[in-house]
Amino acid sequence: MLLTFTSKGIYCRQADVYIDPWKPVKKALITHGHADHSRWGHKHYLSTKAAAPVIYQRLGDINLEVVDFGEVTQINDVKFSFHPAGHIVGSAQIRVEYKGEVWVVSGDYKLENDGISEPFEPVKCNTFITESTFGLPIYKWAPQKEVFADVNAWWQQNKEAGKVTILTGYALGKAQRIIEHLDEGIGTIYTHGAVENVNEVIRNQGVALKPTVRVTQDIDPKEFKGNIVVGYPFSHWEPLGKEIQAILSWHCFWLDGTEGSSQT
Ligand SMILES: [Zn+2]
Repeated sequence: MLLTFTSKGIYCRQADVYIDPWKPVKKALITHGHADHSRWGHKHYLSTKAAAPVIYQRLGDINLEVVDFGEVTQINDVKFSFHPAGHIVGSAQIRVEYKGEVWVVSGDYKLENDGISEPFEPVKCNTFITESTFGLPIYKWAPQKEVFADVNAWWQQNKEAGKVTILTGYALGKAQRIIEHLDEGIGTIYTHGAVENVNEVIRNQGVALKPTVRVTQDIDPKEFKGNIVVGYPFSHWEPLGKEIQAILSWHCFWLDGTEGSSQT
C-alpha cells in the first residue's frame, strides 16, 4: 500500500510524509489552505506556490517549501507532484508515484471552472482517494451560470426595491467565487472585513478580483442601499445599520442537502 490511513492522517511510509495530516507530523504535504486541510504544528510543509499566501496568512511563520503545479519532488524513491483541483486558489490534488504505481489524493475538488481557481485537471492513476463532501446523489447542482443569473436578478430586484443585498459564503474560496460572478453593472460590491482580508492576499499574488469596498464604520449606512455586501456566514452586520432588508445565505442548505440551491 502506497498510502494508508493512520491516526495522524494519510501516510506514505516509503517517503515518511503525510498528506493534510490532522495531528502534528515531521513533513506534511498540504492540498490547500482551508483550516481542515492545513493545520498548525507540523515541522515541514510542502504546498503549491499559489496556495502558500493563504496558508501563511492562516498559520503565520511556518517552515513551508513551495512547488509549481506539475513540478516533481522526490522524497526517498517516491515522486510527488501537485495538480490543480479547481477548489480554491492554489488547491491541488497530490499525485504519488512509486515503482510505477500511481496514487492520487484529491483533496477538496470541483470540476466546474469557477473563474478564480486553477481549473481541475484529471490525473491518471491506479488508485484515487477522493474527498466527497457532496458525493451523495441527493446533491444536484444547477450550472453556476444559472445560479448566478438568479443571484444577479435577485440583487437587481432588491436594488429596485431600495434594499441592501447580503450574500454570505466562506471567506476563503466561496466569497471570491461569488464576487467573480456578480454583475458590477448593478452596483457596488461591498465586503465584510474577513472576506476583504482574503481578497487582499489573493490580489497580492496576482489574481484579478473585481473591485470591492471594505465595509467600515465610517461608511454611511445609506450608501449600502441598492448595493451588495459579501460576507461570511458568521459576519456581524452592525456597520450596515438598520438598512439590512434582504439576506440570502449562499450555503444555508448545504448540511442537509434538501434544497439544492447552493453549491460547493
Ligand atoms: Zn477546502
